[in-house]
Amino acid sequence: MSEKPSPALPEIPDLPGTVRLRVAPSPTGDPHVGTAYMSLFNLAFARQQDGRFLLRIEDTDRARFRADSEQQVFDTLHWLGLTWDEGPDTGGPCAPYRQSERLDTYRPYVDRLLAEGKAYECWCSTERLAQMREIQQKTKQPTGYDRLCHGKTREERAAMPGFSETPVVRMLIPDDVELEFDDLIRGSVSAPRPDDQVILKADGFPTYHLAVVVDDHEMGITHVVRGEEWISSTPKHILLYRWFGLTPPKFAHMPLLRNTDKSKISKRKNPAARLTWFQEQGYLPEALVNFLALLAYPPAQDEEGNDKEFFTFEEFSKDFDWRKVNPVGPIFDLKKLDWLNGVHLRELDLGDFTSRLLPFLVADGVLSDNPSLGELARLKSVAALIQTRITHLTEASALVRPFFVGDDALEIAEDARAGLGENAAEVLDAAAKALGDIDDHGTGVLGSDSNWNAGTIETALRFAIVEGLGVKPKFAFGPLRTAVSGARISPPLFESMEILGKTSTLSRLSALRETL
Ligand code: GLU
Repeated sequence: MSEKPSPALPEIPDLPGTVRLRVAPSPTGDPHVGTAYMSLFNLAFARQQDGRFLLRIEDTDRARFRADSEQQVFDTLHWLGLTWDEGPDTGGPCAPYRQSERLDTYRPYVDRLLAEGKAYECWCSTERLAQMREIQQKTKQPTGYDRLCHGKTREERAAMPGFSETPVVRMLIPDDVELEFDDLIRGSVSAPRPDDQVILKADGFPTYHLAVVVDDHEMGITHVVRGEEWISSTPKHILLYRWFGLTPPKFAHMPLLRNTDKSKISKRKNPAARLTWFQEQGYLPEALVNFLALLAYPPAQDEEGNDKEFFTFEEFSKDFDWRKVNPVGPIFDLKKLDWLNGVHLRELDLGDFTSRLLPFLVADGVLSDNPSLGELARLKSVAALIQTRITHLTEASALVRPFFVGDDALEIAEDARAGLGENAAEVLDAAAKALGDIDDHGTGVLGSDSNWNAGTIETALRFAIVEGLGVKPKFAFGPLRTAVSGARISPPLFESMEILGKTSTLSRLSALRETL
């Protein structure tokens, strides 16, 4: 053991917030859905307690680092409304919030452990460590570092095989290390005995285990809420807190998200592991938040005590209680998310729903990114027709497009043409005649005083086709739908005609008629 005095650790100033929680993603690619899930549970408790929520970027793994990933973390969490009070972009009293910018922070902690003999340098080369592990496995010995370097000077060690110039620093795990700890979700948890964990790598970067403890301490974190895969590391972290003379924070280990076959959700195997996938698929952020909460939290209750699966972040945060979190690995069932998305879509007011559609319509070329007021008014009328009919925002373009193409440019889909039926010509003729008689002196926009409205259109068409020609409604309106929308499936027919206006409707009927 060295005789050097232990270096003093920095003083931590008083920090704002009754409780302080954080999410600490590693920027290694598209943000994982688990980052949103962790953020949600951290944030729900922080908000309930009038505390603070921090975003810390854990970018010490330089091999897996991806430069664009951090911005994607910001963007996807902002999209979900899971926003932080302190972080790399917002700043705060504990800046910097990126571990790669805090490298000087960790050194005094390492020096102190080295000076106290609680940690030691290890010069074993990667090849030697691999060989050691192989022998341990073959001879069925417990695996773990064999402490070859412990108690040796550099010179002594250099004289032995498997020496590498740049050492790492390892914790000297004592025999009586505490293996049990209290978890807010799981109660008393017992973890396996740890190995002599590397805390400082040969490149001078701390490992996660050192950095997480130092940063959580310096950032005043009171509750560490993270995935259950970290349970086995918690004894090492608690030991570091004790060695530094600090009180460990409270721990809550969230159940891991699982695929329907119970395997862990990974970005390689499941596209839904990527947060950006949910944006691309047209899910609403509030539906995803609701879904992620329900993965580990029971439904709310309505006044009669029935389960209420639909809830907002505010309701969730208000009700939040660690004891209610289910520690059993939740199944990631996208059918449930689809259902919730539909429920949330229908809850939006029409203006909000319309503006959520816009980016998808622009991306699909249905509208320009600078639509006119007239186009927006028409879009709102169409949006009212489809709000109860779609599950994903991505479904809107096909339904909305017919309202924004010229009558000549409307394409008739193959399946719609094939399904026209033998009455199509007479139905189109009778419809053109009946609709031609409706007075449309108004504008054709919903709510105008024109006779051209869904009610009048429906009455006229039923009279002319169902009664006049004796064609069953099932066959009467198919050709008309195809003529005005080009598709077999469209928003309701009469309302669609009302929005299109008389001139456009008649010209579409006649365009299809001419091809028969
Ligand atoms: N960087 C770690 C992760 O992405 C953070 C774990 C923790 O919250 O302590 O899983």
